[in-house]
Amino acid sequence: MATHHIPDGLPSSIRHYIDGRFVDSVDGDTFDVLDPVSNETYATAAAGKKADIDLAVAAATRAFVDGPWPRMLPRARARILGRIADAVEAQDARLAELETFDTGLPITQALGQAQRAAENFRFFADLIVAQADDAFTVPGRQLNYVHRKPIGVAGLITPWNTPFMLESWKLAPALASGCTVVLKPAEFTPLSAGLWATIFEEAGLPPGVFNLVNGLGEEAGDALVKHPDVPLISFTGESTTGRIIFANAAESLKGLSMELGGKSPAVVFADADLDAAIDSTLFGVFSLNGERCTAGSRILVQREIYDEFVERFAERARRIVVGNPHDPATEVGALVHPEHYDKVMGYVEIGRSEGRLVAGGGRPEGFESGNYVAPTVFADVKPDARIFQEEIFGPVVAITPFGSDAEALELANDTRYGLAAYLWTRDLERAHTFAHAVEAGMVWLNSHNVRDLRTPFGGVKASGLGQEGGYRSIDFYTDQQAVHITVGPVHTPRFGAS
Ligand code: NAD
Repeated sequence: MATHHIPDGLPSSIRHYIDGRFVDSVDGDTFDVLDPVSNETYATAAAGKKADIDLAVAAATRAFVDGPWPRMLPRARARILGRIADAVEAQDARLAELETFDTGLPITQALGQAQRAAENFRFFADLIVAQADDAFTVPGRQLNYVHRKPIGVAGLITPWNTPFMLESWKLAPALASGCTVVLKPAEFTPLSAGLWATIFEEAGLPPGVFNLVNGLGEEAGDALVKHPDVPLISFTGESTTGRIIFANAAESLKGLSMELGGKSPAVVFADADLDAAIDSTLFGVFSLNGERCTAGSRILVQREIYDEFVERFAERARRIVVGNPHDPATEVGALVHPEHYDKVMGYVEIGRSEGRLVAGGGRPEGFESGNYVAPTVFADVKPDARIFQEEIFGPVVAITPFGSDAEALELANDTRYGLAAYLWTRDLERAHTFAHAVEAGMVWLNSHNVRDLRTPFGGVKASGLGQEGGYRSIDFYTDQQAVHITVGPVHTPRFGAS
């Protein structure tokens, strides 16, 4: 195993960025940040509270009301977004090093996250320049058109899995739309968010447009959600947190976009290309350490091929290389934080009485410390099992047999979640019939999760509210005002004229 890698130039303190300046918390409070390999504190981060959120929202409000950003022509904003994209891409190696260190993601999977983040900026830069809004004519009577305008200060609250890339999902459309923002990144992984400040400054984003407040969800996140001058919250995280935010946002009737948890089924029919299905379902649940909202964490397999599938899948799972996240040979690294490690290991224990353990089952041999979990496979899992119903968010998968298409559909839909579904079959009619009936915001046929940035992204049921992706993201961050113009004579019932 590679020795622990500590990136050069790590900050010892991670600060907020408010109104164009790096600052500490008003009350000076901090929290410890650990790396997932040593579980030792490598930095302290400013612990934002209401007072810090108030300052950040005030700066974002000034930048929105008085600053140039919301009023710039789309082409001018797009040029800055393009410069941001280039700068992000140029930092790929450094970003990957920092993300791997902070999150425990394997370096080969952290590399390329910057390209994906940059692509989000390029995509939304293109979109706002090409934006067309509706106009409706009523011949001889009216011309009605849509005047689109940015809504205001957007509160962005993000999770710890692929933190920088997920932040870009929200930052790019919010900024492209002309909103100003306050970002509250996840407290487990605050390291990379500070890179945005420098990138944005150098690209020419006006001060106050981007603000960053670190801190705990219950403090900084909560204050952002409850702030009366923040009309929008875009949140990605757990469904239970989403529910709390939904309630807290009610007071000020905020616009909400929620990307929440998942327990997505991968359904493998007997007629599937089995080699491809095995490669893909392994990748689908064990990439990103299994800490992936769209993970195919329930695999449903048709009885005719069930035994062969379980045997081959388990055999491959046992050979997955668990290792130091910085080692290029590593396929599964260290889970993000000891608290999360304990949660995942708790499910591994529960799984022992709920299924047949065929791979993994705990800490891999030779790893005395660090948040390492061997890729774990339980077969013969019943639908009422907790490991079938609850999101584990780690390298743990439940495999369940089915007979008919109807049974597969019932099993697929038998959770409170509805984020993604993956189907493996060569039968075109079955594929589309099943895809339309499955309760999932996104379906992939004979594929793992490959995103086209123009398509809707989001879940149904407990997996989300609203959809992002393409113009839907722009719609979230903008108001579409309807302007009505009379053409020709004014037709008004003449009150008081008789
Ligand atoms: P989490 O809900 O614990 O935290 C997410 C963010 O919310 C963090 O920044 C946290 O500080 C903040 N937060 C916590 N309590 C808050 C409160 N009361 N008010 C305001 N903010 C609060 O989630 P996590 O553990 O960081 O991330 C993992 C979860 O995210 C998983 O459930 C995963 O499925 C989900 N996720 C979903 C998607 C998606 O697109 N659907 C993508 C990635 C992750």
